[in-house]
Amino acid sequence: MKEIILIKNGELALKGLNRMTFEDILIKNIKQSLKALGNIEVKRAQSTIIITPHCEDFPFKKALDRVEKIFGIAAYCRAAVCEKNMEDIIKVAIPYLEESLKAAKTFKVEAKRSDKKFPLTSPEISKTLGGEILKNYHHLKVDVHNPDVVVTVEVRDFGAYVRAGQLHGAGGMPVGTGGRASILISGGIDSPVAAWMMAKRGIKLNAIHFASPPYTSLRAEQKVKKLLSKVAAYSGAIPVGVVPFTEIQEAIANNCPEEYFTLIMRRMMMRISQRIAQNSGSMALITGESVGQVASQTLPALVTTDKVVDMPVFRPLIGMDKEEIVIISRKIDTFETSIEPYEDCCTVFTPKHPRTNPKLEAVEKAEQLIDFEEMIERAVEGTIFETIEA
Ligand code: ATP
Ligand code: MG
Repeated sequence: MKEIILIKNGELALKGLNRMTFEDILIKNIKQSLKALGNIEVKRAQSTIIITPHCEDFPFKKALDRVEKIFGIAAYCRAAVCEKNMEDIIKVAIPYLEESLKAAKTFKVEAKRSDKKFPLTSPEISKTLGGEILKNYHHLKVDVHNPDVVVTVEVRDFGAYVRAGQLHGAGGMPVGTGGRASILISGGIDSPVAAWMMAKRGIKLNAIHFASPPYTSLRAEQKVKKLLSKVAAYSGAIPVGVVPFTEIQEAIANNCPEEYFTLIMRRMMMRISQRIAQNSGSMALITGESVGQVASQTLPALVTTDKVVDMPVFRPLIGMDKEEIVIISRKIDTFETSIEPYEDCCTVFTPKHPRTNPKLEAVEKAEQLIDFEEMIERAVEGTIFETIEA
């Protein structure tokens, strides 16, 4: 018996003329994600994508775990390949479906027949296979409204398949269909979730991390890379630039009024990020901020921060509660890493009483106490790049 994985596109179906491009990118992403698991063929056939292994002992379980994380997929399932005649469909289906059928009390058969040359109609296919299933599994009853298992037979131009149920895919759009943006990534809970949310909408990610050794440790940096590797399981490999930020943070701490430390630091991060992002072909910046979460995330603080860049800054978590963010971080398996206790450069030199309602003129005046331009250039020049794989 030969087995394959069937994949149903999500929103792709809506994309009209662009559909081919979207599907091509999805197919490329599928191949990339599964390439280490063995020789496979990935082809498109009538609004379905079919993954056919061409190797012995293809690790289906591992492959399905990866497919589950690929954006642009609405549903997926394993299926058995049959010859296009009712005898073979029955011969394959009865043993192949054993595990699912034994675990169920009720079932129904659905047939999808797009090959109009097939001699039986869809209702006839369902009835015939349903009858054979009842003969072989005596505990089962048919329930057309709310069955425990839906057995599906697909008779297509290019072949016939049987399967039991299907699983929800990751949804969203294939990564690479939406342009490139740079995520400002810290070691916290929020920014990996923000990265994942943008990747879900088809955005290809670059990452920027600010490190301030010796105030921040190498282990903090490694933690960030571990978080990126978890996001990369969904988004594909992520190039990250680690920015040397110590000089600027010390200059702020030594020269600027304490109540503006954080805000000025964030404006510096934005200026540097915009330059690095432009160099890497990114069209926008992404952060993990949400309104009101901390002093630097009040609306006036966010507005003051954004004044230094002309690139759009996307904040996909802007209206979310921490609890809602945590739910996603658990789902994408970044939570346990995020709560490991390493320091971030944001927690170095934090003011006791930060301004929650900053005035732009006052911040700009405070910044003029230092000549930052050369330091910004040095930070951009000194950034070290690396690509993080899943
Ligand atoms: P997170 O959980 O993502 O760390 P947070 O709620 O702790 O977010 P802040 O520490 O104020 O918030 O940071 C706000 C945002 O700024 C982060 O979500 C991230 O996008 C960016 N950021 C913070 N620290 C860094 C850093 N060291 N390098 C790059 N980006 C950072
Ligand atoms: Mg943080």
